[in-house]
Amino acid sequence: MFDTLSDRLAATFKNLRGKGRLSEADIDATAREIRIALLEADVALPVVRAFIKQVKERAAGAEVSQALNPAQQVIKIVNEELVGILGGETRRLRFAKQPPTVIMLAGLQGSGKTTLAGKLGLWLKGQGHSPLLVAADLQRPNAVTQLSVVAERAGVAVYAPEPGNGVGDPVKVAKDSIEYARAKQFDVVVVDTAGRLGIDQELMQQAADIRDAVSPDEVLFVVDAMIGQDAVNTAEAFRDGVGFDGVVLSKLDGDARGGAALSIAHVTGRQIMFASNGEKLDEFDAFHPDRMASRILGMGDMMSLIEKAEQTFSQEEAAQMASKLASSKGKDFTLDDFLAQMEQVRKMGSISKLLGMLPGMGQIKDQINNIDERDVDRTAAIIKSMTPGERQEPTIINGSRRARIAKGSGVDVSAVKGLVERFFEARKMMSRMAQGGGMPGMPGMPG
Ligand code: GDP
Repeated sequence: MFDTLSDRLAATFKNLRGKGRLSEADIDATAREIRIALLEADVALPVVRAFIKQVKERAAGAEVSQALNPAQQVIKIVNEELVGILGGETRRLRFAKQPPTVIMLAGLQGSGKTTLAGKLGLWLKGQGHSPLLVAADLQRPNAVTQLSVVAERAGVAVYAPEPGNGVGDPVKVAKDSIEYARAKQFDVVVVDTAGRLGIDQELMQQAADIRDAVSPDEVLFVVDAMIGQDAVNTAEAFRDGVGFDGVVLSKLDGDARGGAALSIAHVTGRQIMFASNGEKLDEFDAFHPDRMASRILGMGDMMSLIEKAEQTFSQEEAAQMASKLASSKGKDFTLDDFLAQMEQVRKMGSISKLLGMLPGMGQIKDQINNIDERDVDRTAAIIKSMTPGERQEPTIINGSRRARIAKGSGVDVSAVKGLVERFFEARKMMSRMAQGGGMPGMPGMPG
């Protein structure tokens, strides 16, 4: 996402490099290039206009700075303005003082509401809440079943109408679910509502009726980012028809240009609160305008990366690993630990997606896309073909053992050899880090 925009902006900034000061002509030319970049990214015209106006004014008025050269100053201004159009401060979910907190999802059919209900469920559960997902989408034949499936995958509870009891009346289902949540002590209720393929009056009315019945603490408007400019029009229609407090962008993984993300907060006056970037339930995160701006400008998103790592590695696992290293100076580090670490890293998500969050990775994205995730599987298979003794002390792996392991895991002998060598390298590194008192790292990723 944002690839073209990032590339274009980078090229624009490059032209400014080496300039001692910026003339009016420089600023005009830069503004023009940024304008084209935004329009190509499918950003709504009023947003582009407002953006360019701000950048121009601020660049012209910028003080001569000791610390920043002109190119850096322009980048700083563009960054701040990007954060601004993306909504400014991060808008967090508001929880009710008296549980349950009620979150209602609204949006067109296919926008990703039901999937989002599961994602929110998993996310809320991870934060120590006990969410209840409510199937108030009784229009689409499969919607109730689909919600039950995502709830099960997320490991959270679902409230769905009993056949023959309240079927056909989503307002009643929604209303009853709040009572149920109160009685069963669920502290967050996520109400999935019906969508249509297009905006129509009946749909708006039903959503408004559900809203009035459950008095939600948050109405979230879910929109498919892939529909580009239409996302903005749909959002305006929902804002006027039902009203909503925040936006969830879904399918950002398929939105190469990013126009919706860059337009919607500014146009609707409502902030983006969450973003989804895949079909899997954990491909979802709170939306932070500042981090997104950094990513667009190729400055990486270290904060999200660190948070993901924190969520993945439990405190316990990290403590265990750390104490193991401290006591042994790395000598006890075995292939079993190596495998465990690799799998933890993989739990964080696809390697290419993770690397994409690092600063400067924009330039080498082709290499990143070429990383073969199957390498991880192959490495795991090799280690699993070893005996416990070999995993504990790989120095015993001689030629005949290597041949057996290779056969067991279906790889060449050279792959086994390479892996063991990488492991020794990693162990050496761990040992050095342990002596220096550092945290355990992620040794020798395959590849
Ligand atoms: P609903 O009709 O609004 O409830 O939409 P669904 O939740 O059924 O989603 C419609 C389709 O979009 C499904 O096939 C989902 O798997 C898919 N989908 C939902 N969110 C995402 C996402 O973030 N990325 C991608 N690629 N697909 C998604």
